[in-house]
Amino acid sequence: MRTITLKNNFDFLIIGSGLFGSTMAYLLLKKGYKSLVIDKRSHVGGNVYTESVNGINVHKYGAHIFHTDDKRVWNFVNAFAEFNRYTNSPVANYKGRLYNLPFNMNTFYQMWGVTTPEQAAEKIERQRKESGIISPKNLEEQAISLIGKDIYYTLIKDYTEKQWGRKATELPAFIIKRLPVRFTFDNNYFNDTYQGIPIGGYTKMVEKMLEGIEVRLNTDYFENREYFDSIADKIIYTGEIDRYFDYCYGHLEYRTVSFETELLEGVPNFQGNAVVNYTDVDTPYTRIIEHKHFEFGQQPDTVISREYSKEWRPGDEPYYPVNDKRNSELYARYKALTNGQEKVIFGGRLAEYKYYDMHQVIEQALIMADSL
Ligand code: FAD
Ligand code: UDP
Repeated sequence: MRTITLKNNFDFLIIGSGLFGSTMAYLLLKKGYKSLVIDKRSHVGGNVYTESVNGINVHKYGAHIFHTDDKRVWNFVNAFAEFNRYTNSPVANYKGRLYNLPFNMNTFYQMWGVTTPEQAAEKIERQRKESGIISPKNLEEQAISLIGKDIYYTLIKDYTEKQWGRKATELPAFIIKRLPVRFTFDNNYFNDTYQGIPIGGYTKMVEKMLEGIEVRLNTDYFENREYFDSIADKIIYTGEIDRYFDYCYGHLEYRTVSFETELLEGVPNFQGNAVVNYTDVDTPYTRIIEHKHFEFGQQPDTVISREYSKEWRPGDEPYYPVNDKRNSELYARYKALTNGQEKVIFGGRLAEYKYYDMHQVIEQALIMADSL
């Protein structure tokens, strides 16, 4: 008997099963296209991957809180998971004293004992005037003119310098502008209308998006590039853009994070909050995440992760793009090369070298799928 091996043919090869790749795969299936999703990791979900440890969903690549103002994006994710009412309200620990974040009336009360918005605004205005800053040129000046020097030196300077590995005077002002400053007693870290955590973890949500789609894990596109290029009509690439072009112009840079994760058996509640930032210079980590609190867990144990921010070296996980002049110019050169790649669509955080939040990645994928 003769055996005929048919070549597996796909409309789309999707490289990367993170939120961009998985959203595209789902939308393309709905349009009737057949996709193959590959990922070099041993799991789906990219950086939103969660794994269960003693019944606690651990955010393996850093804490992920879903928030958006876009109703279309919110409805989209709610089709794959039920979201809980989690509201991010980090606490800052400065030399053993606790302060609420983001900067709001609770923080001002803890810092100065002021009890009304008028008193708080007066205090900030006085410190702003004393600083003599008129048009802020860097993160330090921006922060002092926004909330005064007391809060800057207690909650911002050291944390920022640990996080970015650079002096606050050498960092762009825009980094600090994303944090709300409020004259109400409101500890919600985000201003968005919709916020929450998918009950049961992000992995379950992504697995649902990928139902009915062929997925191959532990599969690196670059280990078999010619073969993968031949099996699909079009390619969606969500990996690092400089890698795609063999680093022909050199490496793009990132900040990376290392996580020291610990299971504390018999400890039901370690810190009473999902996120505690350590804003002093002597604590080597930037924050401690206690994962169970994202889903209001009642387990007898707990899992915590200390986060250490580090300069990225080739081979490290690329986490935060460094959007300085050098890297922005380098990215623009790689971006120009994508014009010659008619078969390939580049999307997501790594291929676009943009610090996208989850909702922005999904929004981009929805727009992209509409246009196909
Ligand atoms: P990724 O999730 O990086 O997925 C890319 C996938 O491609 C990966 O699985 C990778 O293995 C695979 N891949 C790459 N190269 C290859 C290859 N050659 N072959 C095969 N597979 C390949 N956003 C929020 O909205 N809220 C938050 O609280 C939040 N917190 C964050 C905390 C941290 C520490 C970080 C780093 C990010 C955070 N984000 C947050 C951002 C969020 O993680 C991203 O927006 C989102 O995960 C990006 O999805 P993506 O699909 O573009 O990329
Ligand atoms: N930040 C700070 N103190 C804090 C939290 C944040 O100074 O306790 C600053 C810091 O510079 C950080 C920026 O605010 O890079 C943005 O913070 P966010 O939590 O949004 O950053 P993420 O970790 O989500 O990128």
